[in-house]
Amino acid sequence: MSKTILRMKPIFQEKIWGGNRLNRVFGYTIPSDETGECWAISGHPGGDCTVENPEFAGETVGSLWKKQPELFGNLPGDIFPLLIKIIDAKDDLSIQVHPDDAYAGVHENGSLGKTECWYVLDCDEGATIIIGHNASTKEEMAQMIEENRWNELLRQVPIHKGDFFQIDPGCLHAIKGGTLILETQQSSDVTYRFYDYGRLQDGKPRQLHIAQSLDVTTVPFRADAPAQETWSQGDAKITRLVTCQYYTVCRAEINGTAEFNWNHPFVNVSVLSGEGTLDGIPVAKGDHLLITADYGAMTVKGNLEIMYSHL
Ligand code: ZN
Repeated sequence: MSKTILRMKPIFQEKIWGGNRLNRVFGYTIPSDETGECWAISGHPGGDCTVENPEFAGETVGSLWKKQPELFGNLPGDIFPLLIKIIDAKDDLSIQVHPDDAYAGVHENGSLGKTECWYVLDCDEGATIIIGHNASTKEEMAQMIEENRWNELLRQVPIHKGDFFQIDPGCLHAIKGGTLILETQQSSDVTYRFYDYGRLQDGKPRQLHIAQSLDVTTVPFRADAPAQETWSQGDAKITRLVTCQYYTVCRAEINGTAEFNWNHPFVNVSVLSGEGTLDGIPVAKGDHLLITADYGAMTVKGNLEIMYSHL
């Protein structure tokens, strides 16, 4: 198997809550000043990234997943399983919750559930997110919704650059305004919107899914932050942010030379800052790469910060 690094062409999605930080911070060409999401590594039909390597001209992650499954270790499944996004929330996102695989399988035509995690790339002074709630029973939660006691119900926590949050299915959550996040998630779209601050889009409120939200929300909320581990590898300092059933996510700061050993069906790499080379291939801030199956040893050189994830 040849050693292949696929270079991604990100896809941008406009959102009512989006801004222009994806241009200001990463220099991307964005469609408008209301750009909310950069789908950086994705094979999802809602935004399937084109591969920029000339030898794969015209192919996407999704098309290669079907035509050349050996690039991804012949993994089972219809879809590339992870999705990497950068989210620019100029305004608040709706409060939402995702089902697990079992619930989504039954109620959403066999879809996967969604587990996701957030790394805070940057945020405004005083920024917060919503994670969890303060109801002790489902009855109490239903009553608080009925009485519009949202501030009391929702658990709002302050955030800072470099914070990391794992969002399991059943956890109510929302990114709030002034936040730039790198999100690693299962490649799924199943979202139940719980509350949208009474906002209108094109003159109408967006659809809410209160009944499904109440069904799948974990009550009471359990705050269990993943245990992190940090180690050195050559001139790299690496922190494993989370390992769960669906993914492992690490952040690495390289100042010099470091060897990595990628023995996985694939590895997603996003360059958050700086520049350098991956086995001699130049990379810089804002680049996203997909390292194909059982790549093995790789030499990373330069002064750069990367996030990487694998199954
Ligand atoms: Zn979500």
